[in-house]
Amino acid sequence: MLNILRVIVQKVNAAKTLQAALEIIVHEVRVAMKTEVCSVFLFDSDENCYTLMASEGLNQSAIGTKLLRSEGLVGQVGLREEPINLQDAGSHPKYRYLKESGEERFHAFLGVPIIHHRAILGVLVVQQQEVRFFDETEESFLVTMSAQLAAVIAHAEASGSLARQEAGRATKDTRFVGVAGAPGVAIGEAVVLSPPAYLSAVPDRPADDIKRELKQLGRALKAVRKEMKATAKKLAPSLPPEEIALFDVYRGMLDDNAIGAEVRAIIEQGQWAQGALRQVIEEHVKNFEVMEDSYLRERASDIRDLGRRVLSHLQQQNQTKEVVYPDSCVLISEELTPAMLGEVPRDKLVGLVSVKGSGNSHVAILARAMGVPTVMGAVDLPFTRINGMELIIDGNLGRVYPSPSVELRKYYQEVVDQEREFVAGLDVLRDKPCITTDETRVALWVNTGLMTDVARSLDRGAEGVGLYRTEVPFMIRERFPSEKEQQEIYREQLKAFAPFPVTMRTLDIGGDKELSYFPIKEDNPFLGWRGIRVTLDHPEIFLVQVRAMIKASVGLNNLRIMLPMVCSVAEVEEALHLIHRAHGEVVSEGMDVKLPPVGVMIEVPAAVYLVREFSRRVDFLSVGTNDLTQYLLAVDRNNPRVAELYHSMHPAVLAALRSIVRDARAEGAAVSVCGEMAGDPAAAVLLVAMGYEVLSMNATNLPRIKWVLRNISAQWAKGLLEAVVTMDNASVIQSTMELAMRKAGLGKVMANPRTSED
Ligand code: PEP
Ligand code: MG
Repeated sequence: MLNILRVIVQKVNAAKTLQAALEIIVHEVRVAMKTEVCSVFLFDSDENCYTLMASEGLNQSAIGTKLLRSEGLVGQVGLREEPINLQDAGSHPKYRYLKESGEERFHAFLGVPIIHHRAILGVLVVQQQEVRFFDETEESFLVTMSAQLAAVIAHAEASGSLARQEAGRATKDTRFVGVAGAPGVAIGEAVVLSPPAYLSAVPDRPADDIKRELKQLGRALKAVRKEMKATAKKLAPSLPPEEIALFDVYRGMLDDNAIGAEVRAIIEQGQWAQGALRQVIEEHVKNFEVMEDSYLRERASDIRDLGRRVLSHLQQQNQTKEVVYPDSCVLISEELTPAMLGEVPRDKLVGLVSVKGSGNSHVAILARAMGVPTVMGAVDLPFTRINGMELIIDGNLGRVYPSPSVELRKYYQEVVDQEREFVAGLDVLRDKPCITTDETRVALWVNTGLMTDVARSLDRGAEGVGLYRTEVPFMIRERFPSEKEQQEIYREQLKAFAPFPVTMRTLDIGGDKELSYFPIKEDNPFLGWRGIRVTLDHPEIFLVQVRAMIKASVGLNNLRIMLPMVCSVAEVEEALHLIHRAHGEVVSEGMDVKLPPVGVMIEVPAAVYLVREFSRRVDFLSVGTNDLTQYLLAVDRNNPRVAELYHSMHPAVLAALRSIVRDARAEGAAVSVCGEMAGDPAAAVLLVAMGYEVLSMNATNLPRIKWVLRNISAQWAKGLLEAVVTMDNASVIQSTMELAMRKAGLGKVMANPRTSED
């Protein structure tokens, strides 16, 4: 069964249009199940009805027939969201005869829902003349088929609506739903970026100069053929002749009569070489993947590798060409990386979209710090096809609208203008203290990583740095920075903020933060070798970093060192020992510098229960709500599929936050919050009510939070906290907070109310 399923899914995947995909489905399922009829109905949520899209076995004149949402057995399958298996459909009270279909001959009926991301996409039906129930194996085959096809259909639907939008045939704006990444709205031109030699992320793009593209292709093919020849020669003594012969086959595939000719033909139609190469290689890969013979199937990865090699040469040739970015550039990638954020000059970058990742992925955190509206996890966006298109991205709600209508554009332009006006009005708060109307003083610090954060933070009146993510300068380099280089980078931060404190976190790599030159490949990276675990295993990296920090602070004395991901007292003690050692080494080099305060992050559940023990050993604690939420709720912060379950206002997270502040206070320890929650207006109100006196956030959010806190009383916040801690549902807590904020006249800092209704 698995093999049949795999082959069908591959064939459907290879279809060029939604209609072709549906026709393949009904044909293949009918053959595989040996039934007389297989049909697929798709649901249209705007018209609230199902349409018979494809069928084998029913009269073709019935294609296009519509059924209301609750009409017929199909409607029942959709409403109940479970299979209906009947031996005689006609005798069921909900049976509704499909005119012209000829279905009166068929008695046995099995319908299963097609569900994608909890939404009903359609219903898959098989029918037979015989009066009988479909057996368990048949039912489970159809259920499995439908589950596997759901994502394929969703993608094909998305591409289809995009094509209609492009052709100006769409009746309404096409919307792709993702996850809110960084707030704000942007209107601009899509520029799709692909990581080096990553074929499937290469966008379609018209060729500027067909002749030049053809020439580049010729050069790339020649270079790869040469490489193949050299590799074959090198391996000849150690491989059997039939394996070596494969290299000749691959070389042959790249010559002018085979793959080379196919790519050329597509370039001649106006596509750039990289896009043409992707199209041809993908086609070949798909053909190999559906082969029955497992040996031949494996060859798909060889073809992919060939394609990657050619692509790498094409990209090298293009490197010399200066890329000209549009003035309002919306950068799009299958997986945005921190390094990509630096590709486009800041004054041209208006928005970001990542197909993978979620709202608390580190790249989204950086985007928020830069103040660039961002949508993450737009999983159905056909990103290879939208290069050059005009786009609206709504970072408040996580939506992308390609080729928007005039009305939608006008509406969003107003949102952009209002937001700009509101932010400009906050400038006056820069030198005012953050104090509630009943005199509770809250210190607002910033989270930094990039050097550009410094100027923006000081501009916005930050009173310190609560989290300097030192891994960021590591991530944008191609090797570990030396002690001297690190010292310079850290000195710049410390100097810029002095005399305010700067909390430098020791290297926190692993999880979704990868160093290209220190790859960590794990099945479960967020539960793996991360943060302090890596640096305690590599004291040479840790000591160099801490020494660099301490040396950088000579004469400034505003450094604080913070340890990420600690789970045990032993880790803290080991790290403290190394920090004392590094300090001793710096002093013995003749420098006059104090041992800086050392703190730990509370970001894993174990640490919540160790707050009192930690408080006795370190100088301060800081709560990392991003990871704390992820680990308490067992929801990967990076996975768009579970993004809706990631909720920092979950009752369990709120209970943990209250317990941390209570235990820290009992020990007289200073405790702050440096996760993204601190920069969320409604959450910041709750944190102040709990007793947190230092909130550290990105520079973009700081003025908004100051504005909110200066407009409320701590008493009011405490009342709200008392009310929400009795609630047992995160969404209810969220909406209660939103409503209370709006009623208190603080609605301007929340996501635009009109957009959140659509
Ligand atoms: C956190 O986990 O809340 C935090 C501040 O650290 P990071 O987001 O860098 O993991
Ligand atoms: Mg963290």
